[in-house]
Amino acid sequence: MNKMCSLIADHLPRTKGTIMESYRLSAISWLKVGGPAEFFFKPYDFNDLQSFLRELDSSIPINVLGACSNLLIRDGGIPGVSIKLGKSFGKIEFGTDLITVGASMPAPKVAILASNRGFDLTFLRTIPGTIGGVIKMNAGCYGRYVSDHLETVNVIERNGRISKFTKEDLKLSYRSSTLQSNCVVTSATFRPDKKAPEVLRIEMDEAVNYRASIQPTSELSCGSAFKNPSGFSSRGKNDKDTRSSAWKLIDDAGLRGITLGKAKVSEKHPNFLINMGGATASELEDLGEKIRETVFKLHGVHLEWEIKVVGKR
Ligand SMILES: Cc1cc2nc3c(=O)[nH]c(=O)nc-3n(C[C@H](O)[C@H](O)[C@H](O)COP(=O)(O)OP(=O)(O)OC[C@H]3O[C@@H](n4cnc5c(N)ncnc54)[C@H](O)[C@@H]3O)c2cc1C
Repeated sequence: MNKMCSLIADHLPRTKGTIMESYRLSAISWLKVGGPAEFFFKPYDFNDLQSFLRELDSSIPINVLGACSNLLIRDGGIPGVSIKLGKSFGKIEFGTDLITVGASMPAPKVAILASNRGFDLTFLRTIPGTIGGVIKMNAGCYGRYVSDHLETVNVIERNGRISKFTKEDLKLSYRSSTLQSNCVVTSATFRPDKKAPEVLRIEMDEAVNYRASIQPTSELSCGSAFKNPSGFSSRGKNDKDTRSSAWKLIDDAGLRGITLGKAKVSEKHPNFLINMGGATASELEDLGEKIRETVFKLHGVHLEWEIKVVGKR
């Protein structure tokens, strides 16, 4: 144990959950890269998480992990305590018009369970994150976004305080929200539209097939690496507007298929960075930076990372 680790270890609150030191994050990240979490904490339940945060020394940084489907974790790992919610945060409750979902539940599973009851959250079917992650990112596809259906979000703040935010409080916009990075979303309530379950099932099957036809869904990626400079509006303007799409700018710059070590710009969708197997996080990040530099030189457009690059190099 290094000096810093042992210092933190001495100050970690007691918990009924699991704490692991030097936890290999590459095992759980979608890109299969990244160094270790200095400490990895899986709370036992809501009360355990609340008391842990209340008692954790405020100088120790925390980092919340969902499914790591939008995280490029650097090779040096993540300092402090990385928190990942487990099954006790994975419940779903149906009301007449509202659905309340635990933050650890996978978004595709929510889409399927909701559809069985005639609730339309079908756009979540092809987004491989958790409910906590899709709220933080205001995830969406093909013209529909979390902000279109979200009502309220329950969080535990860094000091253990329990709060409830409305979507207006969180100022959800294109792939972003004002949710503080040291707040943990524990559950959220949605008000979806309603449709016949069999119609929803067909729509979801179509979405899965469509995505597989245009994106490298069976390769290691984090989805779109960069935000579309054209931006978005939660009502109306959809992602098919390619006038200023990131993939088009990258393609026009001749970068489709280029590689750096074992990192690659996808042939199928140039806004996807792929780990071909054995890539390092640095290779993926450097390839991304090379794209940004080239696109800026050629088109004068600053591409902004959609993937969150976290940790130490
Ligand atoms: C093949 C593929 C396709 C994708 N397609 C899409 C798409 O169509 N649309 C889209 O929007 N995204 C897409 N993504 C990206 C990704 O799935 C989304 O950004 C998703 O919202 C990330 O959720 P996550 O649980 O994996 O979060 P993570 O990647 O683990 O984390 C992302 C952010 O959310 C925060 N976070 C996670 N959980 C919590 C929580 N409980 N409380 C507080 N903060 C939390 C993290 O701290 C981090 O800041 C795709 C990714 C892949 C791999």
